[in-house]
Amino acid sequence: MLYITQEDYNIILEHCKKSLPNEACGLVAGIRKNGNKFIKKVYLMTNIDFNSKHFSMAPEEQFAVVKDIRANGYLLLGNFHSHPHSPAMPSSEDIRLAYDKGMDYMILSLINIDKPVLNVFNINRENGNVLFVPWNIVII
Ligand SMILES: [Zn+2]
Repeated sequence: MLYITQEDYNIILEHCKKSLPNEACGLVAGIRKNGNKFIKKVYLMTNIDFNSKHFSMAPEEQFAVVKDIRANGYLLLGNFHSHPHSPAMPSSEDIRLAYDKGMDYMILSLINIDKPVLNVFNINRENGNVLFVPWNIVII
């Protein structure tokens, strides 16, 4: 199970809404405990594609995040991006670009802006396997 606080969920949601009509993206870091993952920090990234169907993260922003994650003693748990006009499922491009099997890929669909849908996946780009990762809001 992947756990996220309501506060961090809201931070992701607001970033995705603010970035419309473009896709938004970011990274999540935290800890692993008893087979579960707990998001402790959300990093909002610039989608340097400024596009509604693609995203790319700026390498210099990624370097800074990796540094901050290390400084906090956290692990990089995964990333998130929004789908402004498509369901919360990985696109063929998302699968092709999923380089890390150990990451949790969070996809937030804003097709209905009043009812955002967040799904989380493990993606194996080599065999195309996509698995749902259960997630929940945790109260701390
Ligand atoms: Zn996508």
